[in-house]
Amino acid sequence: MLKVAIVLFGVACIVVLLAQLVGGGGGRSKPKKPVPLPDLPDEPGYRAADPFDVKSVAVVEARAKRLACRRCGDSVRVDDHVVERFEGELLRVVATHCKQNGHADRMFFRILATGP
Ligand SMILES: [Zn+2]
Repeated sequence: MLKVAIVLFGVACIVVLLAQLVGGGGGRSKPKKPVPLPDLPDEPGYRAADPFDVKSVAVVEARAKRLACRRCGDSVRVDDHVVERFEGELLRVVATHCKQNGHADRMFFRILATGP
């Protein structure tokens, strides 16, 4: 009984393989991996380990908007502004995208003044 099951399983595998060879072909080859962006330099402010220092939360987005797209130099739009913890430190993370080419980026800000 077990042998029959093994043989059936083997046949099923072969059928699946043949079906992929005949039908699938080039159409749906390998699943696409996310393409890593060509490396941009890890400039200060663009990584959590080296955030921009600002004096107040109020200036975070204004500062982010003043920074040009790192790919084309055009101005950027702020998509999101959240607080995230990195190794025990709370940072402001601003997601932006370029108005010209849509390049998405993230900037990190450390708020220096902590209230009165
Ligand atoms: Zn751009």
